[in-house]
Amino acid sequence: MNDLAARLADVRARIARAAGRAGRDPAAITLVAVTKTFPADAVRDAAAAGHIDFGENKVQEALGKIDATRDLRLRWHLIGHLQSNKAKKAAQFDVIHSIDSASLLSKVDEAASALGRAPRLLVQVDLAGESTKFGAAEDDLPAIFEAARAAAAAKTVGLMIIPPAVDNPDEARPYFRRLREVRDRLVAQGVDGAMLNELSMGMSHDFEVAIEEGATLVRVGTAIFGTRRYVRSGPVGGNDPSR
Ligand SMILES: *Cc1c(COP(=O)(O)O)cnc(C)c1O
Repeated sequence: MNDLAARLADVRARIARAAGRAGRDPAAITLVAVTKTFPADAVRDAAAAGHIDFGENKVQEALGKIDATRDLRLRWHLIGHLQSNKAKKAAQFDVIHSIDSASLLSKVDEAASALGRAPRLLVQVDLAGESTKFGAAEDDLPAIFEAARAAAAAKTVGLMIIPPAVDNPDEARPYFRRLREVRDRLVAQGVDGAMLNELSMGMSHDFEVAIEEGATLVRVGTAIFGTRRYVRSGPVGGNDPSR
């Protein structure tokens, strides 16, 4: 087994153990391998190890890799912020985790309809006290799910959160728990549960805690592909979180 295959196997085993601790079926948890800043060859290597779900946080960078790996029949997830002028390009993804307004949802849906695509969507939530600047406030969610109900092509399936960076993964737990509670409140308010089955939460340093709190999609980059490299003049084919 090569290094990448070994790291993938290790992450999968940790997912299974976390699911076991929570009395959950590991098959209900999808590992999204985050390849931002890594070349299409990294995607190919992971695909050769049996991996199907890949995540990118920038539309343009992702489209190059989607194109370069079209022969592989992978599932692509957009996990980074989406500007509405890129809605059409984003409709190429299979899953978009970063819907944060009713108007963005409708734009993506229109683009998907026109292209004959049916992306699945998650609504990114910004819980009070977070330092991340993207995501919808809880108060905005009913209107977003109203737009989701009216969508023709795109299917909304759940919620996503990026908690503030913390040293101890257990400090992220309250955010994961609160996202699950937001979901439960929406269902109690009458939002169709089929639009709220998925919770996208957890990254390399805290995916086990997220799984214990109900994550169905975990987005893991570093633990699989290693540390991302950035240069000051710009990203190395990828993302610079400070920009
Ligand atoms: C980069 C990124 C991840 C993966 O982060 P790691 O710490 O490398 O696992 C997950 N989610 C989002 C939104 C990201 O941008």
